[in-house]
Amino acid sequence: MSILSEPHFHNEEAAIARLEGIVWQNGPHCPKCGGFDRITPVKGGRAGLRRCGPCKREFTVTVGTIFERSHVPLHKWFQAAHLLASSKKGISAHQLHRTLKVTYKTAWFMAHRLREAMKDGKPALLGGGMKHVEADETYLGNKKGFPKQRGFGHKMAVMSLVERGGSVRSVHVDSVTRSTVAQIIQKNVAPDSKLSTDTAAYYKRGKLGVNEHAMVNHFAEEYVRGDVHVNTLEGYFSIFKRGMKGVYQHCSEKHLHRYLAEFDFRYNNRTAVGVSDEARSTKALRGIVGKRLKYRDSSTPAAAGKYV
Ligand SMILES: [Zn+2]
Repeated sequence: MSILSEPHFHNEEAAIARLEGIVWQNGPHCPKCGGFDRITPVKGGRAGLRRCGPCKREFTVTVGTIFERSHVPLHKWFQAAHLLASSKKGISAHQLHRTLKVTYKTAWFMAHRLREAMKDGKPALLGGGMKHVEADETYLGNKKGFPKQRGFGHKMAVMSLVERGGSVRSVHVDSVTRSTVAQIIQKNVAPDSKLSTDTAAYYKRGKLGVNEHAMVNHFAEEYVRGDVHVNTLEGYFSIFKRGMKGVYQHCSEKHLHRYLAEFDFRYNNRTAVGVSDEARSTKALRGIVGKRLKYRDSSTPAAAGKYV
């Protein structure tokens, strides 16, 4: 039986109950006063509606989130999150549109919201304890308004870092320069790490801020020297590029960071590090609720009962 046959993918009440289980791990609490006490279901109210005894506010688990404002039923969000989190190369807005029976525009919007939710708000440093970290870049597509030319000048550049056996972090960069590369490494890699790169000048001469840095000379066809290599990233880039080429096809530069968040998220929550498909999509949904829109009390005239 496919996981997609579970009730919360098809039934709105089941979906709300499921989201409550994900979000309210310590029981329901009031978005207005923050209280946990005397919160009771509203009889005859819509699914999941509750009332806070002390402050009388009525609310559901989706209050102040994109789910509340969205006209798309929650169970379709569950499907979208599952599909995006569990397909290795991603899923196109067109495919989502057909599967979920929502408009293409809505599907596109949902996918981008999920990608935003997949961003790691407080990423930890990679490496440390003299663990191996790899740094490398890849290029794809064409920048808007740049004629095709030799080299990579007209392509979009992505720099990635990966801790072997750990997480990857990808950044869209305007151009790969010595200062950009050094900044990204200094900001994301613990100094007590062993960094592997190729022999490009920006790695060779940059101040990278790590205790150990070794390079393989790709120009001389050297790809592995002992434990010096960037093969983990090569593997990562190949999945990323197959997805961008085969599934997404058209990606403008301004959205690239979201696609990177998506591929990084799937890699960092991969089965090999013990994260199931289900746990991965739950994490994405929790990310959406975590980015709760700021709640304002209806007594403030500016907000007038709106969640802004
Ligand atoms: Zn309350």
